[in-house]
Amino acid sequence: MSAIERTFKSLFLAELLSGMALTFRYMFKQKVTINYPFEKGPLSPRFRGEHALRRYPNGEERCIACKLCEAICPAQAITIEAEPRADGSRRTTRYDIDMTKCIYCGFCEEACPVDAIVEGPNFEFATETREELLYNKDKLLANGDRWEREIAANLTKDAPYR
Ligand code: SF4
Ligand code: SF4
Repeated sequence: MSAIERTFKSLFLAELLSGMALTFRYMFKQKVTINYPFEKGPLSPRFRGEHALRRYPNGEERCIACKLCEAICPAQAITIEAEPRADGSRRTTRYDIDMTKCIYCGFCEEACPVDAIVEGPNFEFATETREELLYNKDKLLANGDRWEREIAANLTKDAPYR
């Protein structure tokens, strides 16, 4: 760029004006930002968020304590203890997930034969202490009860590709 060109551009604020023109053009385009947390972007049905333990519609726990999720978890974040109930069915007496170890790989969900443990759509579960991220069975079942509608809809959408 010659000295004359540079002087001309500086004198008439050409770069400032072209910047303002660009800003003005974008004022009338559709916004790409959203007003989070009041607005949220779309999530894939395969999104791997906070874990939940699901129940059948009659309220019975789906988990049959087969421990496949515990065995496959590469982070060794899952701890399960189980014993037979009076009716002969096998259920967990303890189901813990250390969410600080979890790498959200989804293997537990893939391994589960009865779609009991799932990674739901909730991504807003930041905590102030580490202890709050040590989930027990009650917490996981409560998550399942809270998110069942969304989880079931996502599993249905993903079913043709599984
Ligand atoms: S998502 Fe992966 S790391 Fe996390 S609990 Fe499941 S298997 Fe373990
Ligand atoms: S959550 Fe699924 S894979 Fe894990 S112990 Fe229960 S039934 Fe087995």
